[in-house]
Amino acid sequence: MNAPDPLPSIESDPHVGEVLLSEEKLAERIRELGDQLTRDYAGKAPLLVCVLRGAYVFLTDLARATDLPVQIDFIAVSSYGSSTRTSGVVRLVKDLEVDLTDRHVILVEDIVDTGLTLRYLRRSLEARGPASLEVCALLARESADLEGLGVRYVGFTIPGDFVIGYGLDVAERYRNLRYIAKYEPDADTAE
Ligand code: 5GP
Repeated sequence: MNAPDPLPSIESDPHVGEVLLSEEKLAERIRELGDQLTRDYAGKAPLLVCVLRGAYVFLTDLARATDLPVQIDFIAVSSYGSSTRTSGVVRLVKDLEVDLTDRHVILVEDIVDTGLTLRYLRRSLEARGPASLEVCALLARESADLEGLGVRYVGFTIPGDFVIGYGLDVAERYRNLRYIAKYEPDADTAE
């Protein structure tokens, strides 16, 4: 009997398409965002709220790019729908542990697409009485109304392609890619 084929390495997975943002480009931009936060929050101890799971890689690099006494907490939401399309219904899966009253809160998001997740989270967090609430998103669609959504910090704006890597997944895979690439759903996986 033949041994089962080994799983392909993540780098050679045919669903991993064109690299849109390299490791170096991500690192450079996150350094800039960190400097900006350090200036804007000088003398304050902001609370970074990581939106799980997509933002966890960004959060770790962003937090270390600041020279601030930050605190970290995590919130998780899920949207019903298929793995590459949100349905419009957002549900809180894990809440914060830290009390937001009078805190300077920075919501750290992976990507703002329709803005639905963000609208839901903003409403939920604003109701808890923070001193301030800003949003820092690694990515935003060109089509997203960033002003209307009140997104103050954005790493990169990207077109409509579905992307993976650097925390972003498809069905929980590809989060550990060091870069951001296009997802190729129709790639031929037949050996
Ligand atoms: P929104 O509520 O803004 O439409 O969607 C935001 C969420 O949808 C993101 O936090 C992310 O989880 C998911 N999402 C939107 N676009 C992409 C994408 O291109 N790739 C991945 N992996 N997730 C995405």
